[in-house]
Amino acid sequence: MKEYKCGICNKSYDKIEDRIACESKCYKDYKKAEEAKKKAELEEARKARKEELDLACKKYLELRNAYMKDYGHYTYSYSYGDDNESNSWEAFWRNW
Ligand SMILES: [Zn+2]
Repeated sequence: MKEYKCGICNKSYDKIEDRIACESKCYKDYKKAEEAKKKAELEEARKARKEELDLACKKYLELRNAYMKDYGHYTYSYSYGDDNESNSWEAFWRNW
């Protein structure tokens, strides 16, 4: 008797219809797993970027605190993006 094997999970069937049904189910699962993997990778990348940003902020605070300890006052000399309220450096720190 001829055997039909699912190309994905390798299960054998007597009837080709069963193999086709298995493959289409397995393919759906495969696609789902691929999507989940991609999502997890994107999340990993986001976490790494966040960590990088957090470290940069921490470093900034350390430098700023040391400066303020020695000189008492610190004012940022450059504008942050355009100068509208929501984008200003001060607003950034208020929201932080
Ligand atoms: Zn299968």
